[in-house]
Amino acid sequence: MDVSLLLDELNDKQREAVAAPNQNMLILAGAGSGKTRVLVHRIAWLIEVEHISPYGVLAVTFTNKAAKEMRSRVERLMGNSLKNMWMGTFHGLAHRLLRLHYEEAKLPQNFTILDSDDQYRLVKRLIKALNLDEKHWPPKQVQWFINGNKDEGLRAAQVETFDDPTQKKMRDIYKAYEDACQRSGLVDFAELLLRCYETIRDNESLKKHYQKRFRSILVDEFQDTNNIQYAWLKLLTTKDNNMMIVGDDDQSIYGWRGANVENIAHFLKDFPNAQTIRLEQNYRSTSNILSAANAVINNNSGRLGKELWTKGEEGKKIALYAGFNEVDEARFIVSRIKDFHEQGAALSECAILYRNNAQSRVLEEALLHQRMAYRIYGGLRFFERQEIKDALSYLRLISNPVDDAAFERVVNTPARGLGDKTLGIIRQFAREHEKSMWDAGQAMLNEKRLSGRAAKALASFFDTIDKQAKDTFDMPLHEQADSVIKGSGLYAMYQAEKGDKAQARIENLQELVTAVKQFEIPDDTEEMTPLAAFLAHASLEAGDAQADVDQDAVQLMTIHSAKGLEFPLVILAGVEEGMFPSNMSNEEPSRLEEERRLAYVGMTRAMQQLIITYAETRRVYGQDKYHTISRFVREIPGDFIEEIRLRSQVAQPVYNRFSGQASHTSFVDSGFALGERVMHAKFGEGTVLNYEGSGEHGRVQVHFDDIGSKWLMLAYAKLEKC
Ligand code: ATP
Ligand code: MG
Repeated sequence: MDVSLLLDELNDKQREAVAAPNQNMLILAGAGSGKTRVLVHRIAWLIEVEHISPYGVLAVTFTNKAAKEMRSRVERLMGNSLKNMWMGTFHGLAHRLLRLHYEEAKLPQNFTILDSDDQYRLVKRLIKALNLDEKHWPPKQVQWFINGNKDEGLRAAQVETFDDPTQKKMRDIYKAYEDACQRSGLVDFAELLLRCYETIRDNESLKKHYQKRFRSILVDEFQDTNNIQYAWLKLLTTKDNNMMIVGDDDQSIYGWRGANVENIAHFLKDFPNAQTIRLEQNYRSTSNILSAANAVINNNSGRLGKELWTKGEEGKKIALYAGFNEVDEARFIVSRIKDFHEQGAALSECAILYRNNAQSRVLEEALLHQRMAYRIYGGLRFFERQEIKDALSYLRLISNPVDDAAFERVVNTPARGLGDKTLGIIRQFAREHEKSMWDAGQAMLNEKRLSGRAAKALASFFDTIDKQAKDTFDMPLHEQADSVIKGSGLYAMYQAEKGDKAQARIENLQELVTAVKQFEIPDDTEEMTPLAAFLAHASLEAGDAQADVDQDAVQLMTIHSAKGLEFPLVILAGVEEGMFPSNMSNEEPSRLEEERRLAYVGMTRAMQQLIITYAETRRVYGQDKYHTISRFVREIPGDFIEEIRLRSQVAQPVYNRFSGQASHTSFVDSGFALGERVMHAKFGEGTVLNYEGSGEHGRVQVHFDDIGSKWLMLAYAKLEKC
């Protein structure tokens, strides 16, 4: 290929990074400055110019979406496919390595990945089995304890308890959990990383092999690596190979999950010869958006300090809209997307970003109402739904019968008459004999240790699984899945249940078979059966498998999952105190700074237009909360903001604050006079202050005696004159 292509369309600094001799490098730069672009071009450069085989490159990014994107960008640049290049997320790569070296990793060949919900259930069961009270040992907290230690590279035996009884007990549960996972061939997400690290660390020949093989290691979004990830990268580097890390300390947003931005400083200390390159030109956003984002992040302390400028045009001001509640907010957002779409933009060029997954529901309703296609990333993902997890558990047992998590999930789903008591007996037997539930159950049947009814029920479960395993092992994967799901009795169970919800579950089960059919078995699954490959995919890429991936649709996701992405139109929704920054971050300055970085990430996703919205009242957990605008918006200088007022067709505020008298006497459309006393079923008595809109959209502002001012939809508020 023409090598100059690799350097065209780069600025001087970017070019310097892409064409540098093979050395350790840090690219430290703000959002949209072309860090990822440099990484992509660098990979192509290494292969084309330095003649490093794709096999000798290890490239790590943060999300599956980013990894896919990166691979296709390098392939496009080079015009050929790079199947044997190791490019993926830390979890994906660790998984690949463990599959290849399961023996060295001391794992069964058919080990299963445990997702966060499976892990929670397993922890919960263990707490019970240890006769501990969940109130004192909340499973979520134990789960955090386990994962937190794993992220620091600590096994249960290595956890320092300082003779503290609570810590000791936590450690005991961790230990019981470790044993249970090992017995059942289960590997949780944190374990993927830790086990992979240990396997390399403890196998000299394996370590040498990979150190020699990976001539160049490249890491995007380095600011969000945790300690075990960095330790793993370090194991793989020697004086003969090199690492290029790319990151932005202002975008470190996973501190709450163990990411350590200090790793940037550690890198500079561990690799003193590393060259640092700073990129300062932003190519993504208009100058209004960029200046506003810079103004916000400037309020953080202890930054590594970067300048960002753009040649781009000033662009539109940031639109700010205050919805009077979340429904109004959502309706406004959709109307803006509609406008943008009508001006010729694709729906997929519009992204709605929010702080919490739960915020998506109201937005979805508004989009559905307008029949606008949308796609949600994250949230309750397809593979995490109840019926899908049940079906997957059957498939998991076919693949790995000693998988206790799957066993527990479906041994009595659909109901077979196996009560808690029987299961308790099997659990205890399993623990005492250090067996999996599956093996314990078999042994108990053979030794006739169960009552007639329980024995019969258990035997029928074993028969179901055994028969499916035998009948389907040589089928194509999707036929196997179809047969196993049908044989499981799940369809029949939901058919009997009836109702919309059950029908949706049946459709989801059918959709699962479609997903299996569409699943392309990756090339990196040398050691796996197609079924095991699919199951791993379902755990690792839970969010990415939805039908209609190619459909043009509005993109909905949390700000966290928008990292690294860009969209012509970005709407940041729910930008209120208490939501964003979240309530939890109020007490700790460091958490507040992380929230601010999140705001910076959110704002800098926008290329042409940024809209920020919030709701003055919002229903949170079934309660109306009165919210004020987020401090992050107040940190944006007014020059960059344009407040949107749909209230323009409305009478000007006519309420006289001082006299308490309304200067107009009536307002035809509302049927209420300004200043008139009204009664609301929930909020009590109040005075009409203002009115706007008409018909279905008409709303009034009422100052209630007890709770203060509120905007209400006339159509719903059912106000009565006093
Ligand atoms: P983030 O911090 O958000 O991950 P980034 O630094 O990785 O951002 P990129 O995504 O690589 O930035 O680039 C941002 C946008 O700017 C992309 O659309 C990219 O194609 C474009 N871009 C980067 N460098 C140049 C350049 N030299 N000329 C033209 N466009 C560029
Ligand atoms: Mg990037």
